[in-house]
Amino acid sequence: MERFEFRSETKELLQLMAHSLYSSKDVFLRELVSNASDALDRRRFEALTDPSKLTEGEKLEIKIYADKAAHTLTIEDNGDGMTKEDMVNNLGTIAHSGTKAFVEQLKAAENQDQANNLIGQFGVGFYSAFIVADNVTVTSKRVGQDKAFTFRSNGDGSYTIEDAEKDTVGTKIVLELRKSDEEDQLSDFTDDYVIKSTIKKYSDFVQYPVMVECEHKHHREGVEEAEGHDSSTCNDPTHMVTEKVWEQANSMKAIWLKNASEVTDEEYNEFYKHITYDWSDPLFRLAVKAEGTMEYRGLLFIPERAPYDMNYRDAKYGLRLHAQHVLIMEQCAELLPDYLRFVKGVIDSSDLSLNLSREILQKDRSISTIKKHITKKILDLLQNTAENDPDKYYKFWQTYSRLIKEGAASDYDNKEKLLKLMKFQSTFTLNEEDKKEEKPEDNKDDKKVILTSFDEYIKRMPSDQTDIYAITGESLEVVKNSPHLEAFNQKGYEVLYLVDPYDEILFSQITDYDGKKIVFIGRGEVELGSDEEKKAKREKLESQQKDYSNLIDKLKASLGDEVESVRLSSRLTTSPACLVGLDGDVSPHLQRIISKMGNTNMPISKRILEINPNHPLLVKLQAKLSSNADDPIVSKYAQLLFAQSLLAEGSPLPDPVEYTKLVTELMVDSL
Ligand code: ADP
Repeated sequence: MERFEFRSETKELLQLMAHSLYSSKDVFLRELVSNASDALDRRRFEALTDPSKLTEGEKLEIKIYADKAAHTLTIEDNGDGMTKEDMVNNLGTIAHSGTKAFVEQLKAAENQDQANNLIGQFGVGFYSAFIVADNVTVTSKRVGQDKAFTFRSNGDGSYTIEDAEKDTVGTKIVLELRKSDEEDQLSDFTDDYVIKSTIKKYSDFVQYPVMVECEHKHHREGVEEAEGHDSSTCNDPTHMVTEKVWEQANSMKAIWLKNASEVTDEEYNEFYKHITYDWSDPLFRLAVKAEGTMEYRGLLFIPERAPYDMNYRDAKYGLRLHAQHVLIMEQCAELLPDYLRFVKGVIDSSDLSLNLSREILQKDRSISTIKKHITKKILDLLQNTAENDPDKYYKFWQTYSRLIKEGAASDYDNKEKLLKLMKFQSTFTLNEEDKKEEKPEDNKDDKKVILTSFDEYIKRMPSDQTDIYAITGESLEVVKNSPHLEAFNQKGYEVLYLVDPYDEILFSQITDYDGKKIVFIGRGEVELGSDEEKKAKREKLESQQKDYSNLIDKLKASLGDEVESVRLSSRLTTSPACLVGLDGDVSPHLQRIISKMGNTNMPISKRILEINPNHPLLVKLQAKLSSNADDPIVSKYAQLLFAQSLLAEGSPLPDPVEYTKLVTELMVDSL
């Protein structure tokens, strides 16, 4: 016998199980049955290529039986089994990466509430045995091996592994059930009725028979029949016999093959939990089906919470793939485009062969047809929800917006559909929100942010507006007061706030929507209004240009390399100045992100300082310059204008100390 220490994270998890916070403790049975079912899948799959792995006539099944006297519950399967190494790696350490992530997040949880919440998000597999058991014994024999081993643990600190005797291939888990107390509210899992109903509740669709040993009490046959004894009313205990029989507790019906009317929401949700590691209900459910040249059926789900590994570079994803009802692959990524990697579910096709390999899969025409088809179905479902159930869509968008954007950049065929799904805040929605806040009694717990789609934006466009306007920036707080917005606000043109750093990258590739240009208002020149208005503005600027050319030259000379040039602005109404990029430039906040990511070679592009010729500050400055061409105040003001333009757009100052000095001087002078 060898003794091993659990890894520290495993210890923590076990602790948690023993003092379990779960509201429904019976889930341990679902987890153990799922593990057994997975083991049976693996054995059946191995036997496809090596028939010796399955004895002729051997029936793959799960058996569950209790011993009331010993207060134990046993779950047995004839799946692929485990070697000693498998036990150390799979039971002694947290094997399943989801569980690992769970423990990590649990450590970071600050209080019991948060911990409780987290437990809802992850399945914890084998360790859930310790919710109900003080002692767990796992005896297993790997298929194709002679030796069997027993793993024992009482859930604190260490476990042992020793040689064992076992005739059959597979795994047997014996749970020494904890004595139930009031506080625990544990059901009696030695009661076959409790076992059967738990299986029915969580594992009805499991594809192997789950056999439960049941006690049948009945009257002894043929007893004292002659004396007119009526066995149906007899209550003499000495006449009763108890017989043990096996009953199949699950219906095994593949839930995706049933018609939706035959399946309850609960059954669908339990199925979802069985195939994912999620303990909460899914946000979306979608049944898919095709007949004719390509036949398949399937059931797809979108989790309410993002899968924890959604953004890990090498996370595995995909749908369960069944060929002719037999599971041939647990995670078939080929069925989904990358950006839909959060979709879970199962696809079952009668047109696929049972020994489909990964290599064949990638070239398989029917797989790519299914992929195309279900991608369209998912996007249609989302569009439908966006239109008809905005609250639900909002939840989706909060969680998965990045992936939809990723899709718009990568899935050329569905670009339009994906753009339609996008939602943004804008100058209009922010106004709507202010209105909402003024009437708080209407929406006490409605903390939802109002968003707009491109289509809604276009519907609101005044007739003289031709382009879609957007501003990028670090955060809403920063951009919503940006001087760049002034001319648009004045004109009544809505501007979209693209404050996710990903937006700017995306819309450097996608430059128009529905035939309308997407224009970033922080760059290039801006001309708004009708042709006449534009002409009038241009003429006015030209005439001001003469008056200001001296000041412009001076400002440029003082700022030197800090700006590309200085020019008069037609986009400002109340601010004295702002900085604008050249057309096609990357915005300063994206430049900061890129250099934070370690790309220090990124050239910082110089921008144009635009000044507002109608602002009193500029008018007065120009007057000062006319009376004294060498007034030193001008170069100080050049620095201040530049610094304020940076602050107004949320950029940091290159030299805050110098700025403070200048402002202080100015304050002293004006006193
Ligand atoms: P998972 O989430 O991967 O199922 P578990 O903690 O439930 O995590 O189990 C860890 C690993 O132990 C499984 O992935 C599997 O390799 C192995 N295992 C658990 N139960 C069985 C079983 N009944 N038969 C064979 N292997 C099993």
